[in-house]
Amino acid sequence: MKMGRALIIGCGGVASVAINKCCQNSEVFEEICIASRTKSKCDTLKEKLESITKTKITTAKLDADDVNQLVKLIESYKPDVVLNLALPYQDLTIMDACLATKTHYIDTANYEPLDTAKFEYKWQWAYREKFEKAGITALLGCGFDPGVTGVFSAYAMKHYFDEIHYIDILDANAGDHGYPFATNFNPEINIREVTANGSYWDNGDWIETEPMEIKRIYNFPEIGNKDMYLLHHEELESLALNIKGIKRIRFFMTFGQSYLTHLKCLENVGMTSIEPIEFEGKMIVPLQFLKAVLPDPASLGPRTKGKTNIGCIFTGVKDGKTVHYYVYNVCDHQECYCEVGSQAISYTTGVPAMIGTMLVMNGSWRKPGVYNVEEFDPDPFMDALNKWGLPWQGTFNPTLVD
Ligand code: NDP
Repeated sequence: MKMGRALIIGCGGVASVAINKCCQNSEVFEEICIASRTKSKCDTLKEKLESITKTKITTAKLDADDVNQLVKLIESYKPDVVLNLALPYQDLTIMDACLATKTHYIDTANYEPLDTAKFEYKWQWAYREKFEKAGITALLGCGFDPGVTGVFSAYAMKHYFDEIHYIDILDANAGDHGYPFATNFNPEINIREVTANGSYWDNGDWIETEPMEIKRIYNFPEIGNKDMYLLHHEELESLALNIKGIKRIRFFMTFGQSYLTHLKCLENVGMTSIEPIEFEGKMIVPLQFLKAVLPDPASLGPRTKGKTNIGCIFTGVKDGKTVHYYVYNVCDHQECYCEVGSQAISYTTGVPAMIGTMLVMNGSWRKPGVYNVEEFDPDPFMDALNKWGLPWQGTFNPTLVD
């Protein structure tokens, strides 16, 4: 097994899982450097892990908004790959630094400018030629959704379909943390995502909906009946281009009534706005203030009970016959907490981030340019999911979403 050195940027909920997993996989991750804005978090994690892993861990203080600092750190540490687990706002500066130092790049969320709550791939896809010329790989969106949902799509396409016509991505979280309102990952990013208009891809067009306008009830394996709502989601954009014959792709996420009622109320009073306002002589962004008073997602681990179920239902044709295929992973919040000290949302994102980094590092997922996960061979990734804590199941007889 080829060993290597990874620079991991960020030390929040998702990063701490990915770092735990790299340390479990020290055959591949010989050395890692954890670099983040708050270095004390990196040092605390290093202390916790270094007695139980062979991976050599170092830490660094880093402002990832600053390309010069990034380039300096990459030049001195000389990693084989950079795994970006900071926030979407840092994607482009980190990609610039990877270009300057000819280092491979991986992330889990597409770029979003701080002042417009609109995430799209166009900014990062614009780097394609530069990455090709530099001979380095950028692997975009390698969490669960986006990430594993793209791997599931490539796997279905490779093994079970000649053409996929319909994809429904279903993301259910039946976890209960006991708080009336909290978000499972970075509150600012989460609330920007769920308060935006919904949209789906239909016969070559984007159909836009009001936030939470389209609701369905679905009986999820190992979870039961849940209300789920149509959202716009990152992977719709890349799958619409990369899956042959696709006619419609939708993304649904489950939300409980308490979450929705609190969210509506916060929206109605202006607390979810990203427009700066003046408060006691200082400019503040209401959503950033809200983040400061909400529970830290990293603190939800010990309190959260229940399971997540995230998967994709495909409908298409193989040898002229209609085929339905549903592939999903079920993950238990408490089991994740016992293993790595985090709840399942961070776990289901951090594990694929480690796997993607491993595949780029060992050369199996490496080609010059900027790619989404579904553009690589899904098989080694699917095997690694089973090995590293996210086993998946498939059925050819799923209940379909109307
Ligand atoms: P957190 O807020 O828990 O962690 C973010 C980390 O980034 C923190 O350690 C933070 O530092 C650090 N950071 C922020 N800004 C900078 C900066 N300028 N320079 C250096 N470090 C910085 O977020 P999560 O772990 O919940 O999410 C991480 C990423 O994962 C996000 O991009 C999110 O969108 C993505 N995600 C993807 C999913 C998927 O399935 N694809 C699902 C869930 C999340 P500090 O400690 O100082 O705050």
